[in-house]
Amino acid sequence: MTQVTDHGGGVRSIRVPIPDNPLGHTLVYLVATDAGPVLVDTGWDDPASWDTLTRGITACGTSVEEIHGVVITHHHPDHHGLSGRVREASGAWIAMHAADTAIVRRTRENRPERWFAYMAAKLEASGAPEEHIAPLRETDRPSRRPGTLPGFSPALPDREIVPGELLPLPGRRLRAIWTPGHTPGHVCLHLEEAHPARLPGNGRLFSGDHLLPRITPHIGLYEDPDTHGRPPTANGIESLGEIADPLGDYLDSLERVGRLAPAEVLPAHQHVFTDAPSRVTELLAHHEERLDGLLTLLSTPLTPWQLAERMEWNRPWAEIPYGSRNIAVSEAEAHIRRLVKLGRAEAVPGSDPVTYAAV
Ligand SMILES: [Zn+2]
Ligand SMILES: [Zn+2]
Repeated sequence: MTQVTDHGGGVRSIRVPIPDNPLGHTLVYLVATDAGPVLVDTGWDDPASWDTLTRGITACGTSVEEIHGVVITHHHPDHHGLSGRVREASGAWIAMHAADTAIVRRTRENRPERWFAYMAAKLEASGAPEEHIAPLRETDRPSRRPGTLPGFSPALPDREIVPGELLPLPGRRLRAIWTPGHTPGHVCLHLEEAHPARLPGNGRLFSGDHLLPRITPHIGLYEDPDTHGRPPTANGIESLGEIADPLGDYLDSLERVGRLAPAEVLPAHQHVFTDAPSRVTELLAHHEERLDGLLTLLSTPLTPWQLAERMEWNRPWAEIPYGSRNIAVSEAEAHIRRLVKLGRAEAVPGSDPVTYAAV
């Protein structure tokens, strides 16, 4: 089965597998430029993924040694995982938004122990039960900790993607659109060139994980053990006011790419699609509905953990594996932060761990 699709106008995609992941694959795009081929994202760091990527690049009529540059939509390992190997093979530069580069730098500098300690403190503040937190505290038995954190030494980018600017790609017009929410430095890349099949609309958009045809991305909390992303405290309202509102950022970024009205969206997962404005409208409605549903749940004060237990997921809470529960509770917290920002919920004074209630 061919892993390469020609999208016309010097744009091809390579389906690079993500091992043991229901998403299946990352769509890595190869964009021809006058200075040589440029990749948008690279894929998961795994031998089979590397093979698929390099064979795909060859099937596009070039080779990994010829890659001129790597443009990364965001730091996640299914997008940035193979960037270092591509750079080693080719001497290509790697470009990323500064906010995600900061996360890469932190990941490279922090020891895993520090991250586990932070996670334990954060889960405790979210109201997680002790039996869920305990495995994270086993600092002497790292092998017994649940889950693994991939990409503890991701490649440090050597160029910055500056929002609003054209990337320096000779012969092409590719503009960076900052779309925080899924990660703080997520970017979409707008190819400001007529669609090769003359589809109506405004160029084409490489949307990364920001805008996908059939799923909605996880909203991260922009975790930073050193500065923002602190666990909320009992004087919750002030601290929540200061910390990030990633869901709010995401919804704003969605409206932003909806207004661009690209003729075609080239996402990093699933498949290419048209009519971005309708997809944006659908997603905004979905999130509005979800926030309303959560407000109903918050008629009783709940911790983020308790809210996560009661929220609707793709399977019952009891069947959600360990690592996914951690993601679910951060998702619950992102929604609480949004409701607090909107003045529709607030922290219950004196509660410990902090509970939140609709107002
Ligand atoms: Zn991602
Ligand atoms: Zn992804």
